[in-house]
Amino acid sequence: MLFALFILSSLYVSIVNSWGPTGHSLVAKIAQSMLTSNSKKFVQDHLPWYTNGDLSMLASWPDTILYPDTNPVDYLNWQWSLKLHFVNTPDWICNYDRNRDCDWTNEQRCVDGSIQNYTERLANTKQDSIQRQEALKFLVHFIGDIHQPLHAGFSSDKGGNLIKGRFFDNTTNLHSIWDTLMIERRISLDFQSDSNKYYNYLLDIMHTTYMKNISQWSKCPSSDESKYLACSTAWINEDVALNCAFVYRDEQDKPFSVSQQFQLGQIYYNTRIGIVEERLLQSGVRLAAVINKIVELRKHNDKSCPGTVLIAIVLFLEVLLVLICFICYLIRRTFRRQSFGETSDNYHVVKS
Ligand SMILES: [Zn+2]
Repeated sequence: MLFALFILSSLYVSIVNSWGPTGHSLVAKIAQSMLTSNSKKFVQDHLPWYTNGDLSMLASWPDTILYPDTNPVDYLNWQWSLKLHFVNTPDWICNYDRNRDCDWTNEQRCVDGSIQNYTERLANTKQDSIQRQEALKFLVHFIGDIHQPLHAGFSSDKGGNLIKGRFFDNTTNLHSIWDTLMIERRISLDFQSDSNKYYNYLLDIMHTTYMKNISQWSKCPSSDESKYLACSTAWINEDVALNCAFVYRDEQDKPFSVSQQFQLGQIYYNTRIGIVEERLLQSGVRLAAVINKIVELRKHNDKSCPGTVLIAIVLFLEVLLVLICFICYLIRRTFRRQSFGETSDNYHVVKS
């Protein structure tokens, strides 16, 4: 049994990944920089106290709970969440269909369904605080995942995990190149291995090169009726388009194959690192837009509260008034009785 569990867990490690911790942390930091003051307070209220409202601290939590080396005690209890990190589309079909690819009329267990589910939960004031905290932690991670193109990769190669070869000096697979290797190379070569410097660079290009794109990134296209600006269908379609045009093609523009080892280097890196950076920025901007929207809606709903509070106050005053009248009545009755008693005694005295 233990051996079987070990094999199972090893399989998960090799097949499922997401932006590495650095990518997820960058997405969360970019989002944090775009939160409104109300949203910052909301995030602080909905994350564990030790994070001090820092989204990046738990951005990789949904990955860490899945594996025995990072969650030795109860990683098996979280295996249900494994499918929520990705979705697969048929090879080279180059579009996404919720019903076909995410079983939309039933379970919806894919990254599209999970984003819709956790935005709803986060916005729902009837959910208890533990549920909402979990929803926020999942959402921060999944909005990152859905922007890594190979989280909407082809079914037959499991999102590039089964396409293997060499990237510079690393023996690896296509999925890992997009999760971590290109980001690590960029930080190591151009930012003295300091991810904070890279974060500052990303912020800089977001406010210059990509400034004109931010408002469009923050909106859902009319074709996507998702709630709370979490346009997961549209985001997956962006992935699929990137996959067909760039991700699944080698340096000579030939499609990758599971049966053939790739050899990738400078050309692939130079022509794809810009896509990685744009996806990191898009996911940060969109994560912030989703949280800001949810907080704005909750604030709007809270404004309907004063009416309810007013009715409660009027009812309370009415009850209080009835109570005061009743007490007055009792006091008057007591005095009248005392008065009658004194008269009676006097009468008795006279009579004797
Ligand atoms: Zn993930």
